[in-house]
Amino acid sequence: MTDSAEFDLIRRKHHYRCSICRQPEKVTGTLLPVKGKAPEGDAVYPYPVCPDHHARYMQGFFTGIELKKIGISVEEYRIILAEITADREDGDGLSAAEKGSLAKEETIKKIQKAQKMKIPKVHSDYKKDI
Ligand SMILES: [Zn+2]
Repeated sequence: MTDSAEFDLIRRKHHYRCSICRQPEKVTGTLLPVKGKAPEGDAVYPYPVCPDHHARYMQGFFTGIELKKIGISVEEYRIILAEITADREDGDGLSAAEKGSLAKEETIKKIQKAQKMKIPKVHSDYKKDI
């Protein structure tokens, strides 16, 4: 989602504290990014939050006051959550095994196509000549 070097910088900018509860990373555990909007402008900005608030964000439990701290409205939050859900479905829609069987189907189709093409009967013709 976010370049980790960039997020490291942002974490430092926020003094390694959760954007919501202001608890330091040392206390809460590694801060995680949640999608918000930059303090200036409209750009997407990954705010560092504690694991607790990250879980709450992902579950759709952020309140209006909490959303204000990461620069988005309730409406924007809904859109972001919908996107997150869609991304998850995209990623996990096909298991590795399913992808493998799809690849197999492709191969079978290619073989069937090849079999439809005329193959000269070299071997049997050769026998006749003898
Ligand atoms: Zn927090």
